[in-house]
Amino acid sequence: MPSIFSRIVSGEIPAWKIYEDQETLAFMDINPAARGHALVISKAEQPDLFALAPETLVAVAHTVQRVAIAIRTALEPDGLNIIQNNGAAAGQVIFHYHVHLIPRWEGDRAVRLWSPQPADHDELRALAEQISAAIQ
Ligand code: AMP
Repeated sequence: MPSIFSRIVSGEIPAWKIYEDQETLAFMDINPAARGHALVISKAEQPDLFALAPETLVAVAHTVQRVAIAIRTALEPDGLNIIQNNGAAAGQVIFHYHVHLIPRWEGDRAVRLWSPQPADHDELRALAEQISAAIQ
């Protein structure tokens, strides 16, 4: 069963499209976090960042930048969040790779994802070493 985003790619269900090329598609999110909230997807149906071919990731990144620039030009927001969820625990609901572009407006209802807390530097060093050792 194709994902809902693959069904948008194929034209089976409608979307407010912004931009399209061979590998990517950008369209408006129908449940926006803020005015102008857009999504950029890979046309290839891959569930998340971990499954994505590096070339596809590059293509998505190019489209994200193009659409971000267009949002800035067209809507003149005060800021812009780029968010990409991987896994249900991270808030992912649609398991077809996509990036959120969320224009931010002073006083809008979207919130920051975390409350910053100072870290324990021994733990930071250990985490940096652990992650660094896993780089492939
Ligand atoms: P995520 O939580 O990262 O998986 O985000 C999925 C996003 O897809 C949500 O922000 C939804 O509002 C959005 N969405 C779901 N269905 C559609 C649709 N048919 N057209 C546009 N956006 C959609």
